[in-house]
Amino acid sequence: MKKKVLITGAAGFLGSHLCDRFLSEGFHVIGMDNFITGDTKNIKHLEDNLDFEFIKHDVTEHITIEGSLDYILHFASPASPIDYLKIPIQTLKVGSLGTHNLLGLAKAKNARLLIASTSEVYGDPLVHPQTEDYFGNVNTIGPRGVYDEAKRFQESITMAYHRFHGVETRIVRIFNTYGPRMRLNDGRVIPAFMGQALRGEDLTVFGDGSQTRSFCYVEDQVEGIFKLLFSDYVYPVNIGNPNEISISDFAEEIIKLTNTTQKVIYKDLPVNDPMQRQPDITLARKLLQWEPKVERAEGMKITFDYFKGLSHEELYKSEHRDFSKHIKT
Ligand code: NAD
Ligand code: UDP
Repeated sequence: MKKKVLITGAAGFLGSHLCDRFLSEGFHVIGMDNFITGDTKNIKHLEDNLDFEFIKHDVTEHITIEGSLDYILHFASPASPIDYLKIPIQTLKVGSLGTHNLLGLAKAKNARLLIASTSEVYGDPLVHPQTEDYFGNVNTIGPRGVYDEAKRFQESITMAYHRFHGVETRIVRIFNTYGPRMRLNDGRVIPAFMGQALRGEDLTVFGDGSQTRSFCYVEDQVEGIFKLLFSDYVYPVNIGNPNEISISDFAEEIIKLTNTTQKVIYKDLPVNDPMQRQPDITLARKLLQWEPKVERAEGMKITFDYFKGLSHEELYKSEHRDFSKHIKT
């Protein structure tokens, strides 16, 4: 009998790569998604795979799964700042009510649950690089607070279910991860710059571009998550690539990579945009014998090739994603 894993957010960027990885490792995968920010095309290649089933469902509603379940990976949540600013209440609900439902499911099925947390729990960090024992610097009432606090609550309720009910839980704090299947218009910096280069537009750097990020290629991220799930460690673990770069230097890298003749233009910095971010991965190195392997230049090239392969229509379609059908009055 194959082990069964439920992956929420399966039609999204990370969720779909996790489905691929678990299928390649011989698991039976149940994908769940309500498509609020995901896309059917990310899992289309799994359509005929007998080890893959898909359930269209909003995880903030009660979840029913027939039969046994061994593992759950909770990746459902808007992840791009533009998305979670447009759907703030859905973001809060999926991190809180959704996580509560999945913890209840894990308890009922005696399954191990891994939740996708984020570097955003550190907010605009005053400790650099960020270690897991740093409690963070988050503005609870700022526009990004809906995501950051949902994820912080998610960590708290997960630890409570672990301590009170003995549910087996794992918490990964994911730092900026990129790769094929990101949505071209989701507003995150890599698809944004690559889309602009492909359309012959100037690259929009927010603020003066001195803020930093550290970008991890998706294959490395998935390997770290996989190792964490099968480790014995219940506390949060940072998974990301410590190679840090300022956004203005990154824009220059993208200009070189894409050979665009466009220039950088500067726009206002979004409210509470963190000024620096770099994971300290000492714990992951020691605990999981994990570290990222894919250099930024290589990962960016693969990602750019993916975006280059999109149709003209996809490249030029502006983001008119209709969130209204997901919003209850
Ligand atoms: P994504 O937007 O591509 O994927 C999220 C998926 O969750 C989408 O398919 C969406 O439709 C689905 N979803 C959202 N709300 C749902 C609900 N209520 N019920 C069912 N499905 C729902 O984003 P991603 O980059 O793949 O992120 C996946 C997870 O990883 C998120 O939890 C995010 O917070 C976390 N994360 C990602 C990054 C990153 O750099 N990619 C960094 C930190 C944390
Ligand atoms: N950013 C930018 N131009 C864009 C999109 C993003 O300069 O067109 C900046 C953004 O302000 C932030 C960084 O790039 O400082 C990373 O943004 P992203 O949305 O990818 O992720 P996050 O802020 O969640 O790390």
